[in-house]
Amino acid sequence: VVRAEMFGQLTSGLEAAWTKLKGEEVLTKENIVEPMRDIRRALLEADVSLPVVRRFVQAVSDQAVGVGLIRGVKPDQQLVKIVNDELVKLMGGEVSELVFSKSGPTVILLAGLQGVGKTTVCAKLANYLKKQGKSCMLIAGDVYRPAAIDQLVILGEQVGVPVYTAGTEVKPSEIAKQGLEEAKKKKIDVVIMDTAGRLQIDKGMMDELKEVKKVLNPTEVLLVVDAMTGQEAAALVTTFNVEIGITGAILTKLDGDSRGGAALSVKEVSGKPIKLVGRGERMEDLEPFYPDRMAGRILGMGDVLSFVEKAQEVMRQEDAEELQKKIMSAKFDFNDFLKQTRAVARMGSMTRVIGMIPGMGKVTPAQVREAEKNLKLMEAMIEAMTPGTAMYNHIMYHALPWMVDCRCFASRITQLEQYIKFDESVCAYLETMSLVLLLSPFILFS
Ligand code: GDP
Repeated sequence: VVRAEMFGQLTSGLEAAWTKLKGEEVLTKENIVEPMRDIRRALLEADVSLPVVRRFVQAVSDQAVGVGLIRGVKPDQQLVKIVNDELVKLMGGEVSELVFSKSGPTVILLAGLQGVGKTTVCAKLANYLKKQGKSCMLIAGDVYRPAAIDQLVILGEQVGVPVYTAGTEVKPSEIAKQGLEEAKKKKIDVVIMDTAGRLQIDKGMMDELKEVKKVLNPTEVLLVVDAMTGQEAAALVTTFNVEIGITGAILTKLDGDSRGGAALSVKEVSGKPIKLVGRGERMEDLEPFYPDRMAGRILGMGDVLSFVEKAQEVMRQEDAEELQKKIMSAKFDFNDFLKQTRAVARMGSMTRVIGMIPGMGKVTPAQVREAEKNLKLMEAMIEAMTPGTAMYNHIMYHALPWMVDCRCFASRITQLEQYIKFDESVCAYLETMSLVLLLSPFILFS
């Protein structure tokens, strides 16, 4: 089965471990042997580096045999919890925020090999910071590929951020100097400099970066790495850190069929945190790296918090409260339904949205396409009907079992609390806002 969610293989590999503990009363030295083997295999197949896997497995088994019997918690759930906590720790624990300069512009220097998504990240990052109310400027420093400068200018226009260029005849360190002066004159908050990548690490590139770094005295030096390179990403971060000194990494292409090795290895191997992740080619597809959410996603718990955040972006709090009241008093009607589905549609592609919902990790891309089609069909049907038509009754008839399913979803959210810390308002929001409406096409037309 192809899974719509990234890390799908890792998720199923780990699931195999929990499954072996079904029916056990307590975790013992003996009954965790097999599950630990599954965990080890799953991590290696996800291309996590061997020493990291060894330490991880050791830490998990030490804790697993130590926990004893906890009332009400089954051994398989206990193991999930231990693995979850260790995964979070492995990825650095807390989210690692970008640092901003207190005096003068914050300077962010981006480095990375060719094709990893560095130029794209420049513009995405500017877009991201602009949304936080910061003024940004980009500096085009990739003098070896004239196309890279053009690309940056186009992307800058797209996100509405000025781009400083000086052509390809000027040395990158000189461009950096001029660009920074310009930014100071214009009282820009954040300057982001793109640099030239190479296909592989080489001395020319490192020397150039060192020079640029000296001129810029950057607040952040971020290495852009491609998640598809697995544990190689961690090795690269280490090398760049030793050579030029970096403050963190940005992991790109996490939307592809990345196996997880990069996300899990970078911090542990290099000591440097992943600060941001790229999840697609659109300018909006850049987010902070949350170790706890990532762990939740790897464990197939979906990424409820990211989901809520996205939902909040497209849905106003008042609307949610009104909806809540309507559902409670059984006044929720098809117009509300339509409003909901449209709000959900604004959250992005359905594949991504569904990947974030707990328990929906097993939905295949084909099913998603089918659902999207059904959703359009349903919209058309709803728009065509008047209360009392046969169509109305037909949909109502099918909607009832679906409503029951929504309740199941809500209880699933409540179960999740043992893995992810929610505050109460988030819980209430999730349960009542019923974004589960998304699931309706699967049920209504199946
Ligand atoms: P650079 O050589 O490092 O500057 O790489 P570019 O920024 O030119 O990106 C190389 C390719 O990767 C382009 O086609 C981008 O659209 C694509 N790309 C960049 N980031 C992402 C990402 O997060 N996800 C996906 N799917 N593609 C990306």
